[in-house]
Amino acid sequence: MELLLSLQDISYAYHNLKGETPALSHISFEVSQGEFLAIVGPSGCGKSTLLSIIAGLLMPEEGSLFYKGQYITDCGSNSVMKVGYMLQRDHLFEWRTIYRNVILGLELNRAVTKENRDYVLKLLADYDLYAFKDKKPSELSGGMRQRAALIRTMAIHPDLFLLDEPFSALDSQTRLNVSADIAQIIRGTNKTAILITHDLSEAITLADRVLVLSKRPACVKCEMSIHFDTDRSDPLAIRSTAEYQLYFNQLWEVLTNEQPAVQTG
Ligand code: ADP
Ligand code: MG
Repeated sequence: MELLLSLQDISYAYHNLKGETPALSHISFEVSQGEFLAIVGPSGCGKSTLLSIIAGLLMPEEGSLFYKGQYITDCGSNSVMKVGYMLQRDHLFEWRTIYRNVILGLELNRAVTKENRDYVLKLLADYDLYAFKDKKPSELSGGMRQRAALIRTMAIHPDLFLLDEPFSALDSQTRLNVSADIAQIIRGTNKTAILITHDLSEAITLADRVLVLSKRPACVKCEMSIHFDTDRSDPLAIRSTAEYQLYFNQLWEVLTNEQPAVQTG
């Protein structure tokens, strides 16, 4: 697989009047084109900080970022990277219809062409939201809202999806299906995704590879490739396999072990 993104020795600390809060410590990893990577780590360890650096919202204090082999100096608006961000809250605007919400990214990018409008309508149809396009977000279920948020992200044709705990606001039953749905949609488009989650089960069920971060300041404790013979679209079937149990036990051990970093698989 072609290399898409490479992080080398990235460190970051927040500075304010009270002093310094180190958030990331010498983080290195790579992401291939089309890969679905999950990053797990304890709450407050620096996961969102890491995504902000990848998205170009923060500049690393140390280390470098390469995108398709190109060194990224200024990740700002003229970046070569087209990133689609999806957050914990769906951030749909209540006063806009679902359709007006999903074209918002296009409006902001001044890219509301006929072609893009048609693409959005097709996505709404593909993901069972077409009949709801003139409804307000409050008339939709949590899962439907999350699909709408995904369509809004997809509308701008991102090369890279950055998903920051996008399923946290859903109840656990909905979450299982919606997360599998959304992962399946992203896989179907052959796009690259980085999913942040504190839920190890979710990471194993959805991702091709799992990266475990230490507590703050985050460093990479372990990286593990995930493979199932079972179809990924059925999260319950995945979770009842012996491989799943094995991955879970190994990663849980790493996640909860406070010893210095180890390298496996
Ligand atoms: P996570 O997403 O893993 O929960 P974050 O990346 O949001 O963690 O934050 C990592 C650490 O950095 C936290 O301990 C948090 O208190 C601190 N932090 C986050 N944002 C800021 C900020 N703007 N200023 C100072 N400290 C911050
Ligand atoms: Mg966070």
